[in-house]
Amino acid sequence: MTATAPRYMTRFRCLAQDCEDTCCAGLVVPVSEDRLKRLRDAVAGGPDAERVDAFIRQEPGAAPGDEAVIAKREDGHCVFLDARKTCSLHRAYGEPALPDACATFPRVATRWSQGLEVTGSLACPEVARLCLLPEDALEPVSVSEDLALRPELARPVDGDEDNAWTRHAPAVRATALALLQHRELPFAARLFALGQLGLRLDGFYFQGTEVFRGAAREGADTLLSELLQTFSSPETLTALHGGFSSLALPGGPWAGICATVLKARRGAVRSERFLTLVDQVLASYGGEDLIPEDAWRIHEERRARLSPALAERVEQYFRHHAVNHWLRHAFTDAPRVLDYVFRMVLREAVLCWTLFGHPTVVALCAEPPSDTEAARSRLDAAAVECFQIIAKHVEQAPQLHSLAQGLAGSGGGETLGRMLVLLKGL
Ligand code: SF4
Repeated sequence: MTATAPRYMTRFRCLAQDCEDTCCAGLVVPVSEDRLKRLRDAVAGGPDAERVDAFIRQEPGAAPGDEAVIAKREDGHCVFLDARKTCSLHRAYGEPALPDACATFPRVATRWSQGLEVTGSLACPEVARLCLLPEDALEPVSVSEDLALRPELARPVDGDEDNAWTRHAPAVRATALALLQHRELPFAARLFALGQLGLRLDGFYFQGTEVFRGAAREGADTLLSELLQTFSSPETLTALHGGFSSLALPGGPWAGICATVLKARRGAVRSERFLTLVDQVLASYGGEDLIPEDAWRIHEERRARLSPALAERVEQYFRHHAVNHWLRHAFTDAPRVLDYVFRMVLREAVLCWTLFGHPTVVALCAEPPSDTEAARSRLDAAAVECFQIIAKHVEQAPQLHSLAQGLAGSGGGETLGRMLVLLKGL
């Protein structure tokens, strides 16, 4: 069976002990009942039987029926990680004995009506490198379903003909992806156009919509298709960009929100790499008690000082990250397109704030503008570190979801208005 994947996934090989991170560090690893039984069978009668029983259990306070999780050491690493930074269960019993999350990470498989898609999680540094840095990383290629390792676990997107939300999802997503790749416009203007598309869809195309039923179906289908066509036209995008660039917005609120997100996660994450990065970033913008307006000015100055070639490189990181986000997270999980876009923009904002607070980027911005290979390598390394650490410790965090919920307001024009604040620093 064939599937589709962005080219970077065909290049992925786990770095094992050479990796700067460890996939299981700081993450909760659930183990299904079926997988736990297989693992118990594999270790039965051996030296690991007792450890599997002791360290793979339901968490205290879990409800009956909740999955067991693997215990963590004091430093946040999995108890089965050996001194060589490799998985002792994998080494002794092979991949089939592993829980699903351990076996498949960093691969993410989604089954759309038109076939299986395999993408990667940027929480893995090697995936972050392969996704962000090569120009051709996001080109779609045909692959074997085996690339997903356990394709039967792919998340299905409802393919029911009667469900207009998912039936039209491939066309909506294709328009969004083309818009994100429209490099003639600044990245923030593309996100603004995506928000406008979300707003225009809001009235009739959302999860649970009923307007595509019965006699109204043809009219609703036509309306949607015309709207997607409008947002595929360069003239529409240029006009939207004109409106967006004439808006004067203060940068302080943007800086304040980004700082709040990082501070909120600091109390919940044990990873030394994350904590060090957050401290460095906050210090670069004025410290613990930074003044948002001053932090914004610092950010603005840094961006202005980056050489045009390096600024173009930064655009590529964000474009690749955003495209990968649309491939990795089916927007149909959100209640509305605008809601999905708002949350994505919040992620991009936090990433941008973090990248321009990374010590290497701060140093690059303080030096005379340079387009050398060495400068580019330094920027690449900083970007991989920022995008990976934020993907792992911030992007999926409950704090980010609740903050996004509060920030987005009551939907429609209010959400788009609030999104403008987040676009300020991008
Ligand atoms: S984070 Fe990625 S490269 Fe590193 S050990 Fe895990 S899968 Fe391998």
